[in-house]
Amino acid sequence: SDAKLQSVLSSLSQVHRQLNSLPSNAAADDECIKLNTNENPFALPAPVLESAVAALERQYLYPEDDNVSLRDAAAASYNLSRDQVIAGNGSSELLSLIYKAFLDPGDTLAMLSPGFAYNHKLALLQGARLLEIRWGETCLLPIRKLLFGPAKEAKFILLANPNNPTGTFVPIADIESLVAQSDRLIVVDEAYVDFAPDSALRLVDRYPNLLLLRTFSKSYAAAGIRIGFGLGHPEVIGRLRNIQNMFNMNVIGHAVGVSILAHQTAYAENHRHIQYERVRVNFALSQLGFSVTPSHTNFLLVRVPAGRDGAWWQTCLKRKKILVAVLPDEGLEDCIRVSIGTKPQMDAFLAAVEDILGSET
Ligand code: PMP
Repeated sequence: SDAKLQSVLSSLSQVHRQLNSLPSNAAADDECIKLNTNENPFALPAPVLESAVAALERQYLYPEDDNVSLRDAAAASYNLSRDQVIAGNGSSELLSLIYKAFLDPGDTLAMLSPGFAYNHKLALLQGARLLEIRWGETCLLPIRKLLFGPAKEAKFILLANPNNPTGTFVPIADIESLVAQSDRLIVVDEAYVDFAPDSALRLVDRYPNLLLLRTFSKSYAAAGIRIGFGLGHPEVIGRLRNIQNMFNMNVIGHAVGVSILAHQTAYAENHRHIQYERVRVNFALSQLGFSVTPSHTNFLLVRVPAGRDGAWWQTCLKRKKILVAVLPDEGLEDCIRVSIGTKPQMDAFLAAVEDILGSET
C-alpha cells in the first residue's frame, strides 16, 4: 500500500545518509552511466584491493595450477570439499564448459525462459537445440513441464534463481522438489543470490544431479576480474575440470577471489544499499506510470507505459548518456532492464526518465 511504501521511503532516506560514505568507482563525470549489464559500481573493500595489488608481484609466474587455493577457500566458505568446487574465469566460462561436457551436436537442453540470453549463443556454438520452457504464471517453477513432455529429451535443465531478466525468485523448496523428482542434471545459476532471501547451497550435498553456479561479478563488484564457481557432485565437477583450459584464471583473480571469500561481511553495506535503492527506484518508476516487477537482484525489469517500446526508451536514455538493456525475449519488447547503481546514478536515471516523459506531452 502507499502508506507502507511511504514508511519504507522515509527509512530509506535515513539509510542513504549512513551510506553516503560508501566509496564508488562510478565517477560522476564518467562518459555514460552504465545501467545495462548489472555491474556493481562500488569500490572493492580495502583489503581486497590490497590483495590485487600484492598479486601483481607474482606477474612473472604462471598462476597456481587447477585453482587449488581458491577452490579450497571456496570449499571452506561453502562447507563443501575441494572436489565439489570448480573455479572459472567468470561463471560464463563454467556455463560454456557445461555445454561442452554434456551436449553433443544435435542434443537438446532445456532453459527456463525468459532467461540469460548468452545461453542462446552457447547452444548455437555447440550445435545444440535450446528448448525454452516458459516460467509459470508470476514466474513460478513449472515443475510438471520440466519432468514430463519435451523436456524429457533435455540432457540438462538450466534455470537462474533469482532469474535474469525478470529479477524473480523461486523458493528453494520448489528447486528441491524439481531436483528430487528429476533424473536430469539441473543447473541452477545463482549469479544474483546475494540479493535474494535464500540459496540452494544446502542441497548440493544431498542431490548429485544439482549443479550451482556462483559469480563475484554482481554482488562482489569484481566483474572485470572474472571469478566464478561451480558447486556440485565431484563426478559432475570432475567432468568439467577435465575439459577446462590450464591456467584459466590469473594471479589477480586468484588473490581477489580468496580475499573476497575472507571479507564477505565487508559487503553488507553495499548489498543493503542496492536492496534499498531497488525499492526506491521501483516506487519512483511506479509513480511515473511504469510497471516494475519486484526484484531479488541488482536490477529491475521495467515495463514502459503504453505507446512506446523498450528500444525507444533505450535510445532516448542513451541520448542522455544513460545505458539500459532491452531484452530479446518474446513478450518483453515493451521492457527495459535497469541495473541498480549508486544513489547519484539512480537520481540521474530518474531525472532523465522524467525529462523524457515531460517532452512527450
Ligand atoms: N548468469 C547470469 C544469470 C547472468 O546474468 C550473468 C551476467 N550477466 C552471468 C551468469 C555471467 O556472469 P560472469 O560475469 O560470472 O561470467
